[in-house]
Amino acid sequence: MEQIDLLLTGIGCLYTPEGNGPRYGEEMGRIQEIANAAVAIDKGKIVLVGHKDEVMAALAGAAIRETIDVGGRIVTPGLVDPHTHLVHGGSREHELAMKRSGVPYLDILAKGGGILSTVKSTRQWSEQELYDKAYRSLNEMLLQGVTTIEAKSGYGLNLETELKQLRVSRRLHDTHPVDIASTFMGAHAVPEEYKGRTEEFVAVIIEEMLPAIAAEGLAEFCDIFCEEGVFDVEQSRVILMEGRHHGLIPKIHADEIVALGGSELAQEVGAISAEHLVMTTDQGLASLAAGKVVPVLLPGTTFNLGLSQHARARDMIDKFRLPVALSTDYNPGSCPTESIQLIIMLASLNLKMQPEEILTACTLNAAAAIGRAADIGSIEVGKRADLTIFDAPNLAYLPYHFGINHTFGVIKNGMQVVWNRALTAQA
Ligand SMILES: [Zn+2]
Repeated sequence: MEQIDLLLTGIGCLYTPEGNGPRYGEEMGRIQEIANAAVAIDKGKIVLVGHKDEVMAALAGAAIRETIDVGGRIVTPGLVDPHTHLVHGGSREHELAMKRSGVPYLDILAKGGGILSTVKSTRQWSEQELYDKAYRSLNEMLLQGVTTIEAKSGYGLNLETELKQLRVSRRLHDTHPVDIASTFMGAHAVPEEYKGRTEEFVAVIIEEMLPAIAAEGLAEFCDIFCEEGVFDVEQSRVILMEGRHHGLIPKIHADEIVALGGSELAQEVGAISAEHLVMTTDQGLASLAAGKVVPVLLPGTTFNLGLSQHARARDMIDKFRLPVALSTDYNPGSCPTESIQLIIMLASLNLKMQPEEILTACTLNAAAAIGRAADIGSIEVGKRADLTIFDAPNLAYLPYHFGINHTFGVIKNGMQVVWNRALTAQA
């Protein structure tokens, strides 16, 4: 090796899962821990990782452009948030008083609130307004240690606004340090103007939206809210299969409120991931395992809705050997938070996951949920140099000491984008 761009040294302990694909079941808990580690980075990629002495020996004689000492802090792969509704207009804090005094969601909806209010704002807001709000959210995510996310459309529910949301996502991907994988989710809800005519709306998605979105290359995935009273299994199947014909990989919001058969459908249509899964039956979990579908769990949503039922993460890992991933589900209704570190705490508290499993779920398995496990999600030679530096003595400290931000620094594509808890000029 003749020269490298960056040497990261003084790493108290480096924690990473390993591999180019998801880690299943008990493999999730087996991560690499290297005390007194160093990482060498060149042209945005990791070229060496190991004990400091090994890395320095391999670099003997090489020119090192820049060295950063992380002062004994811990380092993990850059975190990946594989399920967000990032781009939307407005916010719904004015509904909080009604919610807290027990007004049912359907009554809030009848007053023009709930998702209808977000659809209205998203249709009204300009592309620039949507971009500015989402950009601020991406900054929050980056400051939490997140380097790649997925973002869904689905607050437009007409072609014009779905395109607007997806174009904003693409522009954010091009201009913000955080990378974005884009998902078309026109089947997020049935809009007011199609109330009681779900089949007609499904036809609009198939005949108008999917061809236009595919033609512009605006999305990589197609997602649907498969739920009682929203889109049934047959409608979900038709949309996801039609999405596949346009080259969009299926994802599915399944079994959040009712076990409708969404997990079984995920296997059938070859979905890359299935989301929520709070009510999934044993048969559904077996289908996910058979189909190698990544379950994306969203403990912030059940927490914020005040529910006592949680996704069965322990059964998924211990009995069904599933490759569990975690995400914020950041959205203005059921989970208005960009904080992946809150999710880390809730995964420990409510899903009974161990710190090592949580790390795998927020890095390599989250990357697998968006088809990027060969490129990101672990600190290994050849992977993109996305790393997060936490002001913590060890990994278990992250879910333990909760409600604060532990991120000290973030390296994205080999660039120092967060340092000393703040965005840098490069960000
Ligand atoms: Zn969602």
